[in-house]
Amino acid sequence: MRSALIILFSVVLFFQCTHHSIWSYDKTTDEKHWAQLSNAYLNCSSGKRQSPINLSSKKSTHSKHNFQLKYHPSNVDIINNGHTVEFDLEEKNYLILHNIKFELVQFHWHSQSEHTVEGRHFPLELHLVHKNKNNIAVLGVLVDIIEEDRKPHFFDNIPAIGKHQKTRVDLSQLIPQSKSHYYYQGSLTTPPCTEGVQWIVFDQHIKVSRKQLQKFTFFYDHNFRKTQPSYSRNIFYNPHKKL
Ligand SMILES: [Zn+2]
Repeated sequence: MRSALIILFSVVLFFQCTHHSIWSYDKTTDEKHWAQLSNAYLNCSSGKRQSPINLSSKKSTHSKHNFQLKYHPSNVDIINNGHTVEFDLEEKNYLILHNIKFELVQFHWHSQSEHTVEGRHFPLELHLVHKNKNNIAVLGVLVDIIEEDRKPHFFDNIPAIGKHQKTRVDLSQLIPQSKSHYYYQGSLTTPPCTEGVQWIVFDQHIKVSRKQLQKFTFFYDHNFRKTQPSYSRNIFYNPHKKL
Protein backbone atom coordinates (compact mmCIF):
# COMPACT_ATOMS: atom_id res chain seq x y z
CA MET A 1 0.00 0.00 0.00
CA ARG A 2 2.76 2.38 1.00
CA SER A 3 4.77 1.72 -2.17
CA ALA A 4 1.61 2.17 -4.25
CA LEU A 5 1.12 5.57 -2.64
CA ILE A 6 4.73 6.51 -3.31
CA ILE A 7 4.31 5.53 -6.98
CA LEU A 8 1.07 7.53 -7.23
CA PHE A 9 2.74 10.53 -5.58
CA SER A 10 5.71 10.25 -7.98
CA VAL A 11 3.39 10.13 -11.01
CA VAL A 12 1.49 13.24 -9.80
CA LEU A 13 4.78 15.03 -9.16
CA PHE A 14 6.08 14.05 -12.61
CA PHE A 15 3.04 15.52 -14.35
CA GLN A 16 3.17 18.68 -12.24
CA CYS A 17 6.85 19.19 -13.07
CA THR A 18 6.46 18.59 -16.78
CA HIS A 19 3.13 20.41 -17.08
CA HIS A 20 4.67 23.66 -18.22
CA SER A 21 7.10 22.17 -20.71
CA ILE A 22 4.72 20.10 -22.82
CA TRP A 23 4.49 22.79 -25.52
CA SER A 24 6.49 22.29 -28.67
CA TYR A 25 6.77 23.32 -32.33
CA ASP A 26 5.21 20.04 -33.56
CA LYS A 27 1.81 18.53 -34.26
CA THR A 28 -0.67 18.51 -31.34
CA THR A 29 1.44 20.71 -29.05
CA ASP A 30 2.53 23.27 -31.68
CA GLU A 31 1.77 27.00 -31.56
CA LYS A 32 -1.86 26.55 -32.74
CA HIS A 33 -2.48 24.53 -29.55
CA TRP A 34 -0.39 26.39 -26.96
CA ALA A 35 -3.37 28.23 -25.41
CA GLN A 36 -5.23 24.92 -24.96
CA LEU A 37 -2.35 23.26 -23.11
CA SER A 38 -2.66 25.38 -19.96
CA ASN A 39 -4.75 28.27 -18.60
CA ALA A 40 -1.42 29.99 -18.01
CA TYR A 41 -0.89 30.07 -21.80
CA LEU A 42 -4.12 31.87 -22.78
CA ASN A 43 -2.22 34.97 -23.91
CA CYS A 44 -0.76 32.88 -26.74
CA SER A 45 -4.13 33.02 -28.54
CA SER A 46 -6.00 36.01 -27.05
CA GLY A 47 -3.13 38.51 -26.55
CA LYS A 48 -3.21 41.64 -28.69
CA ARG A 49 0.45 42.58 -28.21
CA GLN A 50 2.18 39.37 -29.20
CA SER A 51 5.60 38.67 -30.71
CA PRO A 52 7.16 38.12 -33.15
CA ILE A 53 5.85 40.53 -35.81
CA ASN A 54 6.78 41.59 -39.32
CA LEU A 55 8.97 44.72 -39.36
CA SER A 56 9.04 47.39 -42.04
CA SER A 57 11.03 50.63 -41.76
CA LYS A 58 8.62 52.33 -44.20
CA LYS A 59 5.61 51.49 -42.04
CA SER A 60 7.31 52.41 -38.74
CA THR A 61 7.37 55.70 -36.86
CA HIS A 62 10.86 57.18 -37.00
CA SER A 63 12.18 57.91 -33.52
CA LYS A 64 15.41 58.89 -31.82
CA HIS A 65 14.91 56.86 -28.65
CA ASN A 66 17.99 54.94 -27.72
CA PHE A 67 19.72 52.36 -25.55
CA GLN A 68 23.20 51.45 -24.28
CA LEU A 69 24.94 48.11 -23.86
CA LYS A 70 27.50 47.33 -21.14
CA TYR A 71 28.67 43.94 -22.38
CA HIS A 72 32.01 42.19 -21.86
CA PRO A 73 33.42 38.69 -22.51
CA SER A 74 31.68 36.37 -20.04
CA ASN A 75 31.46 32.81 -18.75
CA VAL A 76 28.25 31.07 -19.76
CA ASP A 77 26.51 27.79 -19.05
CA ILE A 78 25.05 26.32 -22.26
CA ILE A 79 21.82 24.39 -21.70
CA ASN A 80 20.16 22.36 -24.45
CA ASN A 81 16.64 22.58 -22.99
CA GLY A 82 14.55 20.76 -25.61
CA HIS A 83 13.16 24.02 -27.08
CA THR A 84 16.41 25.80 -27.94
CA VAL A 85 20.08 26.13 -27.01
CA GLU A 86 20.26 28.63 -24.15
CA PHE A 87 23.39 30.37 -22.88
CA ASP A 88 22.97 31.40 -19.21
CA LEU A 89 25.21 34.26 -18.12
CA GLU A 90 27.44 33.73 -15.11
CA GLU A 91 28.65 37.36 -15.05
CA LYS A 92 26.86 40.70 -15.02
CA ASN A 93 26.16 42.49 -18.31
CA TYR A 94 23.64 45.27 -18.81
CA LEU A 95 21.24 46.95 -21.20
CA ILE A 96 20.25 50.51 -20.30
CA LEU A 97 16.89 51.40 -21.80
CA HIS A 98 14.89 54.55 -20.96
CA ASN A 99 17.25 55.09 -17.99
CA ILE A 100 16.49 51.65 -16.56
CA LYS A 101 19.24 49.07 -16.09
CA PHE A 102 18.29 45.57 -17.25
CA GLU A 103 20.61 42.63 -16.55
CA LEU A 104 21.36 40.14 -19.34
CA VAL A 105 20.31 36.75 -17.94
CA GLN A 106 20.47 34.47 -20.99
CA PHE A 107 20.53 34.36 -24.76
CA HIS A 108 19.15 31.69 -27.10
CA TRP A 109 18.46 31.05 -30.76
CA HIS A 110 15.58 30.32 -33.15
CA SER A 111 15.72 28.80 -36.64
CA GLN A 112 14.32 30.25 -38.83
CA SER A 113 14.09 33.82 -37.57
CA GLU A 114 10.90 34.72 -35.64
CA HIS A 115 10.75 38.38 -36.73
CA THR A 116 10.57 39.00 -40.45
CA VAL A 117 11.69 42.17 -42.26
CA GLU A 118 9.46 43.22 -45.18
CA GLY A 119 8.06 39.66 -45.02
CA ARG A 120 11.44 37.96 -45.25
CA HIS A 121 12.71 35.35 -42.77
CA PHE A 122 16.40 34.94 -41.90
CA PRO A 123 18.00 31.52 -41.25
CA LEU A 124 18.55 32.25 -37.55
CA GLU A 125 17.56 34.77 -34.85
CA LEU A 126 19.30 35.48 -31.56
CA HIS A 127 17.39 36.69 -28.48
CA LEU A 128 19.29 38.36 -25.64
CA VAL A 129 16.92 38.34 -22.66
CA HIS A 130 17.34 41.10 -20.02
CA LYS A 131 15.48 41.52 -16.74
CA ASN A 132 14.86 44.22 -14.18
CA LYS A 133 12.73 42.63 -11.44
CA ASN A 134 9.66 41.42 -13.38
CA ASN A 135 10.28 43.63 -16.40
CA ILE A 136 11.76 42.05 -19.51
CA ALA A 137 13.58 43.63 -22.44
CA VAL A 138 14.79 41.46 -25.33
CA LEU A 139 17.33 42.34 -27.99
CA GLY A 140 16.68 40.50 -31.25
CA VAL A 141 19.49 39.98 -33.75
CA LEU A 142 18.82 38.54 -37.21
CA VAL A 143 21.54 36.25 -38.54
CA ASP A 144 22.77 35.86 -42.12
CA ILE A 145 24.67 32.80 -43.28
CA ILE A 146 28.09 32.83 -44.97
CA GLU A 147 29.61 29.85 -46.76
CA GLU A 148 33.16 30.40 -45.47
CA ASP A 149 33.69 28.63 -42.11
CA ARG A 150 35.04 31.43 -39.98
CA LYS A 151 34.53 32.55 -36.37
CA PRO A 152 32.46 33.14 -34.28
CA HIS A 153 31.87 29.48 -33.41
CA PHE A 154 28.89 29.73 -31.08
CA PHE A 155 27.71 26.17 -31.66
CA ASP A 156 30.88 24.09 -31.23
CA ASN A 157 29.96 22.96 -27.71
CA ILE A 158 26.23 22.23 -27.82
CA PRO A 159 25.56 19.57 -25.16
CA ALA A 160 23.02 16.74 -25.61
CA ILE A 161 19.37 17.59 -24.80
CA GLY A 162 18.98 18.08 -21.04
CA LYS A 163 22.72 18.56 -20.49
CA HIS A 164 24.92 21.56 -19.61
CA GLN A 165 28.28 22.74 -20.91
CA LYS A 166 30.35 25.67 -19.65
CA THR A 167 32.21 27.96 -22.03
CA ARG A 168 33.24 31.58 -22.52
CA VAL A 169 31.67 33.96 -25.04
CA ASP A 170 32.75 37.33 -26.38
CA LEU A 171 29.36 39.05 -26.28
CA SER A 172 30.49 41.80 -28.67
CA GLN A 173 30.40 39.17 -31.45
CA LEU A 174 26.64 38.90 -30.96
CA ILE A 175 25.90 42.55 -31.70
CA PRO A 176 25.84 44.26 -35.14
CA GLN A 177 28.04 47.32 -35.66
CA SER A 178 25.19 49.62 -36.55
CA LYS A 179 22.79 50.54 -33.79
CA SER A 180 19.83 51.16 -36.10
CA HIS A 181 16.89 49.23 -34.72
CA TYR A 182 13.18 48.70 -34.34
CA TYR A 183 11.47 49.14 -30.98
CA TYR A 184 8.02 47.93 -29.96
CA GLN A 185 5.97 46.49 -27.08
CA GLY A 186 5.39 42.76 -27.47
CA SER A 187 5.56 39.44 -25.65
CA LEU A 188 7.58 36.32 -25.02
CA THR A 189 7.50 34.24 -28.22
CA THR A 190 7.11 31.00 -26.25
CA PRO A 191 4.50 29.96 -23.64
CA PRO A 192 3.26 31.59 -21.47
CA CYS A 193 3.49 34.37 -24.17
CA THR A 194 3.62 37.00 -21.41
CA GLU A 195 3.03 40.57 -22.65
CA GLY A 196 4.73 43.80 -21.55
CA VAL A 197 8.06 42.77 -23.08
CA GLN A 198 10.08 45.62 -24.63
CA TRP A 199 11.61 44.54 -27.94
CA ILE A 200 14.61 46.01 -29.71
CA VAL A 201 15.37 44.30 -33.03
CA PHE A 202 18.55 45.36 -34.81
CA ASP A 203 18.22 46.38 -38.44
CA GLN A 204 21.72 45.14 -39.30
CA HIS A 205 22.57 41.43 -39.11
CA ILE A 206 25.42 39.35 -37.76
CA LYS A 207 26.94 36.50 -39.80
CA VAL A 208 27.40 32.86 -38.89
CA SER A 209 28.90 30.17 -41.13
CA ARG A 210 26.72 27.49 -42.73
CA LYS A 211 28.68 24.82 -40.82
CA GLN A 212 27.82 26.54 -37.53
CA LEU A 213 24.16 26.86 -38.51
CA GLN A 214 24.07 23.12 -39.25
CA LYS A 215 25.37 22.36 -35.74
CA PHE A 216 22.34 24.25 -34.36
CA THR A 217 19.77 22.90 -36.84
CA PHE A 218 20.95 19.36 -36.06
CA PHE A 219 18.91 19.89 -32.86
CA TYR A 220 16.41 22.62 -33.86
CA ASP A 221 15.46 23.35 -37.46
CA HIS A 222 11.99 24.85 -36.87
CA ASN A 223 11.86 26.27 -33.33
CA PHE A 224 10.23 29.54 -34.37
CA ARG A 225 6.78 31.05 -33.82
CA LYS A 226 4.95 32.58 -36.81
CA THR A 227 4.54 36.37 -36.96
CA GLN A 228 1.56 37.75 -35.02
CA PRO A 229 -0.82 40.61 -35.92
CA SER A 230 0.49 44.07 -34.95
CA TYR A 231 -3.07 45.45 -34.41
CA SER A 232 -2.81 49.13 -33.52
CA ARG A 233 0.66 48.99 -31.99
CA ASN A 234 3.25 51.67 -32.62
CA ILE A 235 6.40 50.22 -34.16
CA PHE A 236 9.34 52.63 -33.92
CA TYR A 237 12.42 52.71 -36.13
CA ASN A 238 15.66 54.48 -35.25
CA PRO A 239 18.01 54.62 -38.26
CA HIS A 240 21.08 55.34 -36.08
CA LYS A 241 24.51 54.91 -37.55
CA LYS A 242 27.10 54.10 -34.90
CA LEU A 243 27.16 52.01 -31.71
ZN1 LIG B 1 13.46 33.60 -28.18
